[in-house]
Amino acid sequence: MTDDNAAAALRPPEDPLSDPFWKSLADGRLTFQKCKHCGNSWLPARGECPKCLQSDWAWENASGDAKLISWIVYHRAFHPAFADRLPYTVAVVELAEGPRMTSNIVGVADPETLKVDQRLRLTIEQDFGMAVPRFIPV
Ligand SMILES: [Zn+2]
Repeated sequence: MTDDNAAAALRPPEDPLSDPFWKSLADGRLTFQKCKHCGNSWLPARGECPKCLQSDWAWENASGDAKLISWIVYHRAFHPAFADRLPYTVAVVELAEGPRMTSNIVGVADPETLKVDQRLRLTIEQDFGMAVPRFIPV
C-alpha cells in the first residue's frame, strides 16, 4: 500500500463537527469541547454535552498535560500501513481538563515500563499528511 492510499484509508471522514478539532491540531493545538451549561468537557466531538444533553458548548485549548488510563501494546499491525511501527502502543489518556481520548504513547523504549496514572505530555506529530495528537511520558 502506498502512503497516499494509506492516508486516504486512515484519514478521518470529513465532518463539520470534528473538523475544528483536526484544524486546531494542524495549528499546533489540541482542543476539546466544553459545555457552557454544566461545565463538562469531552472528546471526541459531538453535537451535545454527553452529561446534560445541552448543545451550548465551545472549543477549548488543552494544556497538553495528561495521564495514562489504560493501554495495549500491538505486536501485530491493526493496518498494514502500521507494520513498520511494531510494537506500538494504543492508549486511553485523560487530559488534565478531564476529557479522555484514544491516542498513542510514543518515545518509550520499553512499553513494559508504562504505569497507570503515569504523567504524559502532548506531542503533535505529522502522520500520513495530517497532524495527530500523541503522548510522551514525562
Ligand atoms: Zn453539559
